[in-house]
Amino acid sequence: MTVAATHLANDILEAIAGRWGYLDAAAKLAGHPERLALFLTGREQEITPVNIEIWPSLRCNARCPKCPYRTNGARHEADRRNASKRLISLQTLVETGLGTQDVMPIERWAKMAHEFRQAGGLSVTFTSGGEPTEHPNLPDFGRIARQEGLAWGLYSNGCNLTADLVNQLLANSPEFIRVSINSWSAHSHD
Ligand code: SF4
Repeated sequence: MTVAATHLANDILEAIAGRWGYLDAAAKLAGHPERLALFLTGREQEITPVNIEIWPSLRCNARCPKCPYRTNGARHEADRRNASKRLISLQTLVETGLGTQDVMPIERWAKMAHEFRQAGGLSVTFTSGGEPTEHPNLPDFGRIARQEGLAWGLYSNGCNLTADLVNQLLANSPEFIRVSINSWSAHSHD
């Protein structure tokens, strides 16, 4: 980093930490001096994100009235197909292969994970937009992340988190498994 860029970086860190008291953000920036240097020298297109968010599944087992992901047309379609799929037998499901719709192929994640790590990425969050645990092979997503050297975490609505699935996920050392618990009224929520 040039001297000017170093001064500017320090100014930014002090501004963040001092003006907004937002020490975490300053500490995070300080942990990525190469990325900060690229940003400060106008080369932000060359920055590899530290973390990426991946949606393993577009479908969800919940129908939250204020789901923010419903603005996504693909998500709507997944809900529609998922609703009809749940009315048919398991045998039909296996025969028609509908169980693989609306979920990310594991090979695609393996390729992305490898390329992301090679480019300097550090971690991945498997998250909602669909519910990640609707993917039949979710533990493999964590396994591949670890094999590539990526830290990983999971956001889930928790409905599918059986002891068996949790154990399979823990076998691949997640940094966190976060479950959101909300309620239907302000009173009971708080
Ligand atoms: S659990 Fe998340 S993705 Fe599923 S309906 Fe609710 S808000 Fe939407």
